Amino acid sequence: MMVKAIQLQLCGFVSQRWTLKPRTSLSISSLSSLSQISHPNPSFKLLPTITTPRRTRFAPFRASSSLQSAGNVRSIKFCQWCGGSTKHVIPDGEEKLRAICTVCGRIAYQNPKMVVGCLVEQDNKILLCKRNIQPSHGLWTLPAGYLEIGESAVEGAMRETREEANADVEVISPFAQLDIPLIGQTYMIFLAKLKKPHFSPGPESSECQLFALDDIPFNALSFSSMVVTLSLYIEDIKAGKPKFHYGTINKRPGTSPSDIHAYTLNHHMHT
Ligand SMILES: [Zn+2]
Repeated sequence: MMVKAIQLQLCGFVSQRWTLKPRTSLSISSLSSLSQISHPNPSFKLLPTITTPRRTRFAPFRASSSLQSAGNVRSIKFCQWCGGSTKHVIPDGEEKLRAICTVCGRIAYQNPKMVVGCLVEQDNKILLCKRNIQPSHGLWTLPAGYLEIGESAVEGAMRETREEANADVEVISPFAQLDIPLIGQTYMIFLAKLKKPHFSPGPESSECQLFALDDIPFNALSFSSMVVTLSLYIEDIKAGKPKFHYGTINKRPGTSPSDIHAYTLNHHMHT
């Protein structure tokens, strides 16, 4: 299952602004010579994958509805357990408005969702999938989607890669955790490599392709999270080897929800 996000259209790469620390800018076009990829910790080994049931598709949404689903407690009008109507109050001892069932008294807490995916390296290239579903139909993404109950983040990332690119991968190391508070999502992206040099589009992809780093289509990526992940990766490779990154992706105030380059990366920390 591919990722939903707040950005749906593409804009020029030049429009982005960065708060990467300690660097303040990144020019993709200037990356002409890239060093060999080396991995900081090749010891991340995997247990056999757990097979989980096929999940229900999520409905695509735009920024306004994502805000609603991610954080608007007033949109919860009925109890998910008993069907009773809810009231919206701040419970004693809490600070946030909650939807509380007027029949059974249960509180519907809202929590972020985790999106897991793989940055698959092969011959100094990266595997990208062209989305065959909305949102961002026709744009490129890393294979990624929602983590399921019953699986680990690594297992979910491998499953998403299998579903979207028919690719069996070995995970090498964690690469980035990126929080997007605006839409209640946390991304966990792993570096991985193909077990066999085979891949093909799954049902949610129209194409799968290996891109040299200089050829990554930054003007046709699907989401800000992908712009951030791939930019950090290129920066790392240019500097020698991949690090592990944490950061928070925030929309720049006053910018269009559809502009995937109009963000800031805050609280950026790396190994
Ligand atoms: Zn209830």
